[in-house]
Amino acid sequence: MSLWQYQKVDVSQHAKGVMVDAQLVILAGDGIGPEVAAEARKVLERIAAKFGHHFQFSEGLIGGCAIDATGEALPDSTLDMCRAAQGILLGAVGGPKWDNPNAKTRPEAGLLNIRKELGLFANLRPITVSRHLVSAAPLKQEIVEGVDILFFRELTGGLYFGESGKKTGGPHGDVAYNTMIYSEHEVERIVRMAGAAARNRRKKVTSVDKANVLEVSRLWRRVTERVMTNEFPDVQLEHVLIDAMAMHLISRPKSFDVVVTENLFGDILTDEGSMLPGSMGLLPSASLGTPGPGLYEPIHGSAPDIAGKGIANPLATILASAMLLRHSLSLETEAKAIETAVDAVLAAGHRTKDIAGTGPHVSTVEMGQLVLEAIG
Ligand code: NAD
Repeated sequence: MSLWQYQKVDVSQHAKGVMVDAQLVILAGDGIGPEVAAEARKVLERIAAKFGHHFQFSEGLIGGCAIDATGEALPDSTLDMCRAAQGILLGAVGGPKWDNPNAKTRPEAGLLNIRKELGLFANLRPITVSRHLVSAAPLKQEIVEGVDILFFRELTGGLYFGESGKKTGGPHGDVAYNTMIYSEHEVERIVRMAGAAARNRRKKVTSVDKANVLEVSRLWRRVTERVMTNEFPDVQLEHVLIDAMAMHLISRPKSFDVVVTENLFGDILTDEGSMLPGSMGLLPSASLGTPGPGLYEPIHGSAPDIAGKGIANPLATILASAMLLRHSLSLETEAKAIETAVDAVLAAGHRTKDIAGTGPHVSTVEMGQLVLEAIG
């Protein structure tokens, strides 16, 4: 099954050169979210103008700013707006202002709810290392040069959505628990997406689990084995335990093509993977699922330590907008135009502070402007 079959827009409608009319939602969020989302929006507007498309933008509240305005991390008005759109671009949510553990709700609830409500069960995180940044990466050049991994993190199941609870005042103090739970159906659908993607790449899927200890991982492994053998016999499958994977990801990252794993393991591994290129500010992600709009965002959070300073790297969010064009609007040429522009800006030596080392750096807005100029 093709990855595209999960998307709302029918690829066949978009013969090359046909004008696309799309409703897009921007959820800027908190901290550096509005700073980086603003640059990505300008890039989408430039693409629309250059290629003759019409993108209509709406802005919605999510996270801490939504709690302040409405008391809810994901107000119904935002959800309705998202349901009516073809694509959603998110900045980031959260920050110390909303960290009170006794608060009724937290910004992150907005993220979990939007994923659940829109059925976004697959989080795609491509990890590539720009050849222009290889020497600045924290790992050795020979390890990171040429890395090209596509992670599929299951997003609406597992430990983050299983039964949880707490009991106070037991004989050994308070007790709390979360449950990691998966159905065959949940595993099948994400493995199918990973298999379909691998078929168009280097034809290898690495499934990560903890089957030597966890019952839920044994189910994960059994279902993965079945789906891959029956439906993707031409794609090589390997199983790697999560603890070993944490090691292999930084010692031999080039040996991985498509990696598929459950929610918590994927959350941790993809953050670890962000150190291959060297900064969280470089990596985009797409959350896809049942037919409907996809959600596109940088993998980083709201970075309260640098919010308001104008130094955040907008490239991850700009690259997320390229994923939106590719996966939700089937605009491959336009997506490539953004990626090529980002590559050209990096090749010319422009750096935001997070990737500049001791060298000079440009601001968030300047980096956005450089990408616009490179798009032309
Ligand atoms: P973070 O990703 O916000 O920041 C981690 C580090 O990376 C910080 O030093 C930050 O300055 C740096 N960084 C992140 N993005 C950057 C960028 N674009 N340019 C330059 N540097 C960048 O993670 P954190 O500090 O653990 O979390 C901060 C808040 O974000 C928390 O409230 C957390 O819950 C939330 N969070 C939100 C999301 C999301 O919205 N999807 C994801 C992760 C964390």
